[in-house]
Amino acid sequence: MDFELAEEHRLLQRMVRDFVDKEVMPRARQVDESGEFPWETLRAMAPLGLLGLNIPEKYGGAGGDQLGAAIMLEEIGRGCGSTGLIVAAHLGLACGPLALFGSEGQKRKWLEPMAIGQILGALGLTEPGAGSDLRGIRTAAVRRGDEWVINGSKMWLTNGAEAGVLILFLRTGDRSSHIIVPADAPGVSFGRPEKKMGLHGSHTYALTLEDVHVPTENLLGVEGRGLPQTMQVLDSGRIGIGALSLGLAQGAYEAACEYARLRRAFGQRLNQHEAVAFMLADMATEIQASRWLVYHAAWLKDQGRPFTKEASMAKLFASEAAERVARNALQIHGGNGYSQEYPVERIYRDARLMTIGEGTSEVQRLVISRLVA
Ligand SMILES: Cc1cc2nc3c(=O)[nH]c(=O)nc-3n(C[C@H](O)[C@H](O)[C@H](O)COP(=O)(O)OP(=O)(O)OC[C@H]3O[C@@H](n4cnc5c(N)ncnc54)[C@H](O)[C@@H]3O)c2cc1C
Repeated sequence: MDFELAEEHRLLQRMVRDFVDKEVMPRARQVDESGEFPWETLRAMAPLGLLGLNIPEKYGGAGGDQLGAAIMLEEIGRGCGSTGLIVAAHLGLACGPLALFGSEGQKRKWLEPMAIGQILGALGLTEPGAGSDLRGIRTAAVRRGDEWVINGSKMWLTNGAEAGVLILFLRTGDRSSHIIVPADAPGVSFGRPEKKMGLHGSHTYALTLEDVHVPTENLLGVEGRGLPQTMQVLDSGRIGIGALSLGLAQGAYEAACEYARLRRAFGQRLNQHEAVAFMLADMATEIQASRWLVYHAAWLKDQGRPFTKEASMAKLFASEAAERVARNALQIHGGNGYSQEYPVERIYRDARLMTIGEGTSEVQRLVISRLVA
C-alpha cells in the first residue's frame, strides 16, 4: 500500500490550493451575501483546466483522473462551497454523462466547449414528484419524425439558467433515457433561483419544458437505459460531493484551530481547554477518515474496479462528518460562530446540503446495505 500522493497529484493540489487562497476564499463571503454567481472565478479556472479536469485532452480537458478531480473539489470546497458545487455539478453531473455515454459527435459538439469552460452544464433528474425514487419521473420525450418533443418539469437544477447545455433524464415510452437539450432551445424556461439556506452563489432552478424540439441524435447513450446510466453518473458524482464535503470540513476545522489558538478564556487559550482540544481532535480524525474514504473510492474508479459501494460510503461519511465538524467549529467560536463575520456560519449552512444532494444519506445507506448484505 502507498498512501503518498503521486507527484502529479501533489502539484495539482498545490496549484489549486494557491488559486483558492488567492481567488476563491477572499470572495466566498461576498458570494454568499450577495448570492452572485461567481463568473469571474470560473473564468479564471478555465485556463487552468479545472472545468474539464478529468476529461480527456482530445475533448479539451486536462486529461486528469478521478483522484485529481476529488483533490481539486476538496481544495475548492475548503475555500467556497458555492463555487465547489458549481464545479462539482458541471464536471460530475454534466460532463460526466457526456464523457461516459456520448458519441464522438456529441463529445465534439458539447463536451469540448464544457471542458474548456466556454459553457457550463447542468443535469436534470429531480422532479416535483420524484427525487430519491427516480422511477416516478413524468417528464416525457416523444419521438416525432427525426425529433424528440419534450414536455414536463424538473426541479433543483444546479447551474440551470447559467448552463449552455442540459442533460435531462426523461421518460421515453415506458422506460427512461437521457437527452441533451440546449439551454436556449425554444420552450425551455427557468424559474427564479431558489432561495436556499446556504450555497447562495450556486444557483438552483425549477425548469419547465413546453414542446421542446431536439433532434433524435441528441439521445445520450442507449434508449431505455436512463436509470442504469444515471446510477453510473451518480457513482462518480458522489465521490465529488464527498470531496466537496471534505473540503468544507477542512475549511471549518482550520478556522476553528486558528480561533482556538487566539481566543483566551479562564486564563488560557481555548485550545488549552481539554473540552475544546478534544473537539479539535475529533474533527481532525473525522476529516482524515473522510479523506481516505474519498481518495480510495476515486482510486478504485481510476483502477477500473467496482466503486459503487465505496463511493456511497465516502459520500455518506464525509457529508455527515462535514456537518459535525462545521457544527463543532461554530461551537468553538462561541457567539462569534453565529455571526456572518466569521466563515464557520457560512460553512455550517453550506455543509447541510451535502447529506441531501446526489442521493440523501438514507439513499446511500440503501445502496451500501444492498452491497454488503
Ligand atoms: C441545493 C440543491 C441542489 C440540487 N441539485 C440538483 C441537480 O443539479 N440536479 C438534480 O436532478 N437534482 C438536484 N437536487 C435534488 C436532490 O438530488 C434531491 O433533493 C434529493 O435527491 C432528494 O430528493 P427529494 O428532495 O425529492 O426528497 P425525497 O425523495 O422526497 O425524500 C424525502 C426524505 O425521505 C427519505 N427517503 C426517501 N426514500 C427513502 C427510502 N426508500 N428509505 C428511507 N428514506 C427514504 C429521503 O432520504 C429524505 O430524507 C438538488 C437539491 C438541492 C437542495
